[in-house]
Amino acid sequence: MTLRQLFHFNGGVKPAYNKEPSNALPIMVAPLPAELAIPLHQSVGGIPRPLVQAGEHVRKGQLIGGPDGYVSSSVHASTSGLVKAIEPRLMPHTSGLSALCVVIEPDGKDEWADLAPIPWRSMKPDEVRDALRDSGVVGLGGAVFPSYLKVNPGKQGHLNTLVINGAECEPFITCDDMQMREHAETIIRGAAILRDLTKAEQVLVGIEDNKPEAIAAMQVAVKATGEPRIEIVPVPTRYPAGGAKQLIRVLTGIEVPHGTRSTDYGVQCFNTGTAFAIYEALELGRPLISRIVTVAGNVETARNYEVRFGTPMKDVIALSKAKPDTNRIVMGGPMMGFAMPADTVPVVKATNCILVGSPTLFPPPPPEMPCIRCGECARACPTDLQPFEMYWFSRARIFGKAQEYHLFDCIECGCCAYVCGSNIPLVDYFRFAKSEIWARENEKAAADGARERYEFRLAREEREKAEKAAKLAAKAAETKAKLAAAASADDEQKKALIAAAVARTEAASATRQEGTPGAD
Ligand code: SF4
Ligand code: SF4
Repeated sequence: MTLRQLFHFNGGVKPAYNKEPSNALPIMVAPLPAELAIPLHQSVGGIPRPLVQAGEHVRKGQLIGGPDGYVSSSVHASTSGLVKAIEPRLMPHTSGLSALCVVIEPDGKDEWADLAPIPWRSMKPDEVRDALRDSGVVGLGGAVFPSYLKVNPGKQGHLNTLVINGAECEPFITCDDMQMREHAETIIRGAAILRDLTKAEQVLVGIEDNKPEAIAAMQVAVKATGEPRIEIVPVPTRYPAGGAKQLIRVLTGIEVPHGTRSTDYGVQCFNTGTAFAIYEALELGRPLISRIVTVAGNVETARNYEVRFGTPMKDVIALSKAKPDTNRIVMGGPMMGFAMPADTVPVVKATNCILVGSPTLFPPPPPEMPCIRCGECARACPTDLQPFEMYWFSRARIFGKAQEYHLFDCIECGCCAYVCGSNIPLVDYFRFAKSEIWARENEKAAADGARERYEFRLAREEREKAEKAAKLAAKAAETKAKLAAAASADDEQKKALIAAAVARTEAASATRQEGTPGAD
């Protein structure tokens, strides 16, 4: 067997991985909670429209949120039961904002809606994409980008390489690792479907070499399924090897430049969990209603659970028993995760990990010091950015300049902040700058929209005025023509009357002359 040549990506770090506590036990299916609050907006793109009403009974897998717009995804009931309400609930986001949820009281039967496999092999590509959109499958590596938009052979009509991302480089998180160990065949079959849909010449499954059990299970699955052109490739453990561009670089040597897409280079990347979900959606007709979630950190028993979307995080944490000194809940890992506003927020499609924190496990960061422009952050950056420049402009709110330094190419991996000797929470500054830019763009779009509506109204009023004037002018011309015609008819009639009178007079005169004696 020849060893595949691997490549390096720039930067990266080697944090403590802390994965062992949560990958010691098999995945457990989390029990049904007393109530599910399923957010309608769980993916990148438009907010799905609610398709059910309070008081309705729904079945597991029933569509409850329809996609809105080209980039959007469907949402389904994750068990059977009664829709109690459709109302705003606190979201799993640091903002502490609420968003519309379909609140379901489970009936305990967990009864599936009528499901049927999707005959994707005999369907046109657009029809398969529509089916995937309706199944609610999104990227489960954390990006939650609707998958149907990525199932595309690209401009050249086929992909050179399909990358399946099983790197899972973030500390503490083991959901992909455990799913690969326990469901390797399903993942390989999902990867084969993606290979066929994207007409990929080869499929490379990249797995960090700190997951030997997963690598072995996936290799066995490739042999067992007999799927051709699929190769399991162990890659060196280095954070963030699981970033899409970083894994593509390691596996293919292709450097995807700033502002371009990997498909421009004939490569597309899907997470292993997404490949699993695509198999379930197409071959079994099962929409995405749950995912594997790692619960780790300050808990008695770190473990992975299969959790229905809408389950309160506190219910999942309770299964692992949080220790008494717990002081925070993070969704995601310590490098890229977000602090949650409360433990009542629901598990959503983006929830790969619930990391339970304590002052000992995650001590408060030391005080922030001035930047000494040492350049360590730039050396650690896997996307070849200059974090200290972006930090300076983000902090000074000169957002245009931050964008010039490719702020939006930052994948928020946290490597820069991890190495910064001045303890500057660089990623916080970048997230702040991005949200400010998005807010301004939204405001501008709203203002542009209002201006367009105003201009449209003015144009419509002008058009209506002109149409009204034209109608009045036409009416006046018609009346004038009628009057002229009537006047002309009058003249003719008068002439006829006069002629008749003259004729009568002449006839009378002639009669008189005939009757006069001696007139001969
Ligand atoms: S590592 Fe920290 S101190 Fe050094 S240049 Fe970057 S931001 Fe400044
Ligand atoms: S967070 Fe952004 S700037 Fe910092 S290392 Fe990662 S990609 Fe580079």
